[in-house]
Formats: sequence, C-alpha cells, structure tokens
Amino acid sequence: MSAGVRIIVILPFAPEERQAHDGLIAAACALHKENPSAELDIVQLVPMSGAMEARAVGDTARWWECASPSLADTAEPPMITALVRQALSLQGLSEAKQRLILMPPGPQGEELAALLAADLDGCSLGRCTALALTGTTVIGRRPVFGGRLMIELRSHAAVCCATWRPASAHASALQAIPDSAVRQIPMTAPAAESHEVELVQSADAQPRLEGASFVVSGGRGMDGLEGFELLARIAASVGAALGGSLPAVDAGWVPVARQIGQSGKFVAPRLYFAVGISGTPQHLAGVSGSARIVALNRDPEAPIFAVAEAGVVGDWRVILPLLAQRLEARQPAPLILPASGRERD
Ligand SMILES: Cc1cc2nc3c(=O)[nH]c(=O)nc-3n(C[C@H](O)[C@H](O)[C@H](O)COP(=O)(O)OP(=O)(O)OC[C@H]3O[C@@H](n4cnc5c(N)ncnc54)[C@H](O)[C@@H]3O)c2cc1C
Repeated sequence: MSAGVRIIVILPFAPEERQAHDGLIAAACALHKENPSAELDIVQLVPMSGAMEARAVGDTARWWECASPSLADTAEPPMITALVRQALSLQGLSEAKQRLILMPPGPQGEELAALLAADLDGCSLGRCTALALTGTTVIGRRPVFGGRLMIELRSHAAVCCATWRPASAHASALQAIPDSAVRQIPMTAPAAESHEVELVQSADAQPRLEGASFVVSGGRGMDGLEGFELLARIAASVGAALGGSLPAVDAGWVPVARQIGQSGKFVAPRLYFAVGISGTPQHLAGVSGSARIVALNRDPEAPIFAVAEAGVVGDWRVILPLLAQRLEARQPAPLILPASGRERD
C-alpha cells in the first residue's frame, strides 16, 4: 500500500489519441483503487470553462478544469508546462510529499513529461507500459531496444513524471461524471512566457496516423514510389492512414512524419496492413500490441508473419493492383472491423 503518494493525471487539451487518453484515465483509476492511501487528481486543460468532459471509474478522483484562453491559439509544450506548473501551485497539488505525474502517451505527452520533470526537479520514467506503487516507491516498466527487452525502473523521487500507455486498459469502464463534480482552477496569471509560433500548412492531405483505426504501411520491399501510389489508393478507398518503415522514409517514398516505429510514430490502429515490411523489432515497437496485423510479403520466413493475424505470401506487384481495383469498384462504405479479441505482449 502506498503512503500518501499523490497521483496527478494531466490531460492536455485535444488528445493526440483519444483511446490512449481514456486508457490512461482508466489505468490511473485502477492504480488508485489498488492503493487506497494514494490520492488521485485529474487535471484537464481546456481553452474555456465548461469545455471539459470528465470521465472516471468510480468517484474517488478529484477532477480539475484548468481553463486558459491561450490554449485556443496554441498548445505548445512550453506553454502547457507553464500552465500545468501554475495549476499545480494554485490548488496545493504540490503539497504532497511525493507526486506521480502522468501524461498520455505520444510525442506531446513525452515532451511535457520531460519538461515538467526538469522544471520540478524530479525524474522522468519515460514511456511506461505498467506502473505500480509500493510504499513510497514508484515502479515503472517500459520497453527498451525497440521492444526487445522490458526494464523495471524504481524511483523514490519526490516528483516522478511518466507517460503511460497501459498494456491493457479498460477504457470502456469509464463513466461520465456530473459537471458539479468538476472543480475549477482559476487561471489568473498570464499563461506563459510567449513563444512565437508560425503555423505552416502541411502539403500532406492524407488522414493523420495519430488515432487512425486503420493503417496501410509499406516498407523497403515496395521498391519505389509506384508501390506507394498503390498503397495510397488502397488507403484512400478504405479511409486508412498511410505509413511506412524507416527505409521507405529514407528513400523518400513516404514523408518522415509518417514513419512508424521506435524512432518514428507509435500507432494503435485496429488493423495494420504491412506490405513489403520484414517486421523488425524497431518497426514493430511502433505498432500497438492490440492491433491486428495483416501482412503481405514475398518471403514466407519474414518475421512479420510471426506477429500477423493473417498473412499473404506473394509479390505486391501482383496482389496490390487487384486489391486496389476491387476496393475502388465497391460502393464507398466505412470499414467495420470486429473488436479485437486478442492481445499480444
Ligand atoms: C536505433 C534504430 C531505430 C530504428 N527505428 C526504426 C523505426 O522507427 N521504424 C522502422 O521501420 N525501422 C527502424 N529502424 C530500422 C530497422 O532496424 C529496420 O532496418 C527496418 O525496420 C527495416 O524496414 P523494412 O521492413 O521496410 O525493410 P527490410 O527489413 O529490408 O524488409 C523488406 C521486406 O520486403 C519484402 N519484399 C521485398 N520485395 C517484395 C515484394 N515485391 N513483395 C512483397 N514483399 C517484398 C522482403 O521479403 C522483406 O521482408 C531502426 C533501427 C535502429 C538501429
């Protein structure tokens, strides 16, 4: 049982992945339940009062709405860090001897966790997949070396920050809580030191990888732009987001913002279609364990088949044109996938 650790979940405005956001809340509620002497505060940043949707398991968490109009213009990590710092000091959230500050997974959460840890003189555990409390020790588990190893980190620091993507989160158990249960944090002081931000419209008009429920992805085996044009047609016909492996990005066939893997984006679709991708740990580190993988590869020994739920051994040059034609010929209809009944570790 923990001795008074204060668990504080920070929810930035506009989640990068809604599913991951909800997974974090559900996991934090479960951690709180396992440690009744701990306290749980959930701090949501919103651009205006009343914009928050509070959801929790049980009613033991305190929900805080932290409204700042500056969020309507920009949500840059340094500005969010300043807002969070302000919210923590205004409501005495910094009074606990020991605090575990959690952020949703994803690049924004990771940057915020590192900035906050530096700012509050604490430690950052990075991208955790499991967290536990034993007494005043925070125990985090996280993958390293592209998912080949799991390490366990133990911290006694007064402030411990982490992002948390729970391996199994029961976000469906979340229930809406009434507005009256939400406490306001008055943000009176100016939000932050100002940063000039220039918004540049991306030329990439494809659906975003973040939060996509279907991802079509190509690797070195696509052998050029021609293959990626076919993948883009297939993605467009089913409303999927397009991604690629590191070699495909290096070759310039797919923009760097669409790289999936250890040094790229982390995706958590319900279906991941991997074409001409061998399935290295560095690539698979970016594909959530709950995704169903369907692979097309001409090598029957390709490691991707070991993690794929379905696979086709063949040459994409033969299969993809037929698939694109078939998909484009059908009436546009949303792709309906059955709920995933499988979990991989
Ligand atoms: C620190 C570090 C970080 C890394 N980060 C990432 C990362 O974020 N993302 C990432 O992807 N990689 C990353 N890598 C690189 C990683 O190690 C692999 O090199 C990379 O994932 C391999 O990509 P691939 O599967 O596209 O290519 P390959 O491994 O070369 O596989 C190509 C596949 O295409 C198949 N193929 C070839 N022709 C055809 C055809 N005509 N039809 C069907 N199949 C065909 C082949 O059988 C083969 O299986 C990282 C490496 C390091 C060291």
